[in-house]
Amino acid sequence: MSPGIDGKDSFGRVHRSLRVSVTDRCNLRCTYCMPAGGVLCAPRDELLGFEEILLAVQVACSLGINRIRITGGEPLLRPDLAELVGLLRREAPVEDLALTTNGVLLDRHAEDLAAAGLDRVNVSLDSLRPDRFEAVTRFGVLEQAWRGVEAAAEAGLSPLRINTLVLAGVNDDEVEGWLELTRRHEMDVRFMELMPIGEGAEQTEAGQFVNLTELRERLVEEAGLSPVEKVRGNGPARYYRLPDGKGRVGFITPLSNPYCDTCSRMRLTSTGALRACLSFDDHVSVREALRAGDEEKVREGFVQALREKPAGHHWRAGGVTEAGMSALGG
Ligand code: SAM
Ligand code: SF4
Repeated sequence: MSPGIDGKDSFGRVHRSLRVSVTDRCNLRCTYCMPAGGVLCAPRDELLGFEEILLAVQVACSLGINRIRITGGEPLLRPDLAELVGLLRREAPVEDLALTTNGVLLDRHAEDLAAAGLDRVNVSLDSLRPDRFEAVTRFGVLEQAWRGVEAAAEAGLSPLRINTLVLAGVNDDEVEGWLELTRRHEMDVRFMELMPIGEGAEQTEAGQFVNLTELRERLVEEAGLSPVEKVRGNGPARYYRLPDGKGRVGFITPLSNPYCDTCSRMRLTSTGALRACLSFDDHVSVREALRAGDEEKVREGFVQALREKPAGHHWRAGGVTEAGMSALGG
């Protein structure tokens, strides 16, 4: 079978997961993701409609993908997002349907999203200190994002996950506080490494990268973290638990311990570009095929993207990704 038809790329990696960006706009300006003045966004008429996204997901599922994560930019800036969730639930054989959000608008949408069939949510939250949260996001209000976390828990969107990007000299002294949260609550906190993508390249250059493999080894030693097997929809994270912890602690280490060999992910940007690898700016556009409802052409696009997927990222060799995460669908 040629690469792509069965969700395999040229290196035999089977693809199971698609990240679908529904917008490149955002209501925050995280320092590592967007410049203070924002980025030039795509014209609105270039953003995919929900029916177009559905077709892309149906084709992806026909190739063996069964996990979908809705992301952005900030996905909840599309106020009718629950409609998309319902559509994907009803019309595509998706096994795991998740959302990544900054949480700011989550309190008003969590219930509707859960009712429409969303399985779970990841909230990106880099600090539990209001002043720091505001500094990292440039104007975010921690209380608002935290209300979103609580609303997701109340709506049963579990396991509830918080993603924290660890930055040297910014929030790396909060790690113990996050561990403490997992001791007391049934939630996963996942520490993520800074990647040289968009604004993240400058911050890497400025020395804000933290090696989380080293951090993990230290915490295994000092805090008694022990590995947890098999976590549903775990992707590249490795999970651990405190001896008396209710929740789990995840480590995502694309730089210090890459997982390219087992990468099973693709991305669809909000303007209909397929990106098989986050590290390279190459992409295959399926927007016109989606607009025309041409399923076969969309499938060809997926197959081409899989065929051209490189063996691994080029960040350790000093490469950077020009487009920022808000445009790629992080
Ligand atoms: N706005 C939503 C959010 O923040 O969760 C979804 C999109 S955002 C681009 C998805 C994730 O990408 C966030 O968890 C964010 O921390 C992460 N991210 C953005 N730029 C990054 C970078 N340069 N390196 C590592 N992670 C990054
Ligand atoms: Fe927006 Fe998410 Fe990027 Fe922060 S990380 S600026 S919330 S897209």
